[in-house]
Amino acid sequence: MALRILNGFTKSLPWPPYKKIGAVCLLAETSDGLLLVDSGIGLQDYHRPSRMMRDFMNVMQAIRDPEIAIVRQLARLGYKPADVRHIVLTHLHLDHAGGLPDFPNAMVHVFQREFQAWKHPRKLFEIPYDKSHFAHGPRWSFHQLEGEKWCGFDAVRLAGLEPEVWLVPLPGHTSGHCGVALQTETGWIFQCGDAVPVNLDLRPGMVLFYRPTIGANVPRLKAFAKAHPEVRMIAGHMDLDFFLEGGLSRNQRERT
Ligand SMILES: [Zn+2]
Repeated sequence: MALRILNGFTKSLPWPPYKKIGAVCLLAETSDGLLLVDSGIGLQDYHRPSRMMRDFMNVMQAIRDPEIAIVRQLARLGYKPADVRHIVLTHLHLDHAGGLPDFPNAMVHVFQREFQAWKHPRKLFEIPYDKSHFAHGPRWSFHQLEGEKWCGFDAVRLAGLEPEVWLVPLPGHTSGHCGVALQTETGWIFQCGDAVPVNLDLRPGMVLFYRPTIGANVPRLKAFAKAHPEVRMIAGHMDLDFFLEGGLSRNQRERT
């Protein structure tokens, strides 16, 4: 199966130049079943949202259509929730971890530091964790750095999975925020999550605008993009057009 790029949550930011923006979720087949990178928001968020989620959806002018939930999209592709054996999270924010309750049997891979950030928030951006997303008791798998590298980045490989999947710490947005690198049939894809502006738009003005929310990873990621044009980089949030066009190609052209 080729890698699929799905949108797990649609918001309509009230300021230009954006209209509707999606939340990138990746679906890949591994040696141990289906793997998701990030999970968008889930069915309970549409039907029984927590107060935090309700407020978030109001501010973000979310599209309130449960058919957007990844579990519904997978059903339309012919998959059952139990087919998803692994979920890898860039971070635990409510628009990335909301789908977890829809896949209660999946192993949930997260950087240990990110779990700590949820348990012991230290800054503003460590507040938007919604505990209702974890109330079912996910099967956590915590990861920390042990001296390995992926393409020059300190990183940790998810043991036992083929093709290779790596958590690549890109802290700043939250203390334990990670990118996720995934080996595909056609080369590496590097999901940079919320460490980069929407649409991976790395023009200086955009980077400055987003700087308070994304951390300080952009110069390094920009240098990486230049040195590794073969690695397909992607942001955690992309214009809806990106998904409609099947992803990647336009992003690849425009990222620098
Ligand atoms: Zn976030």
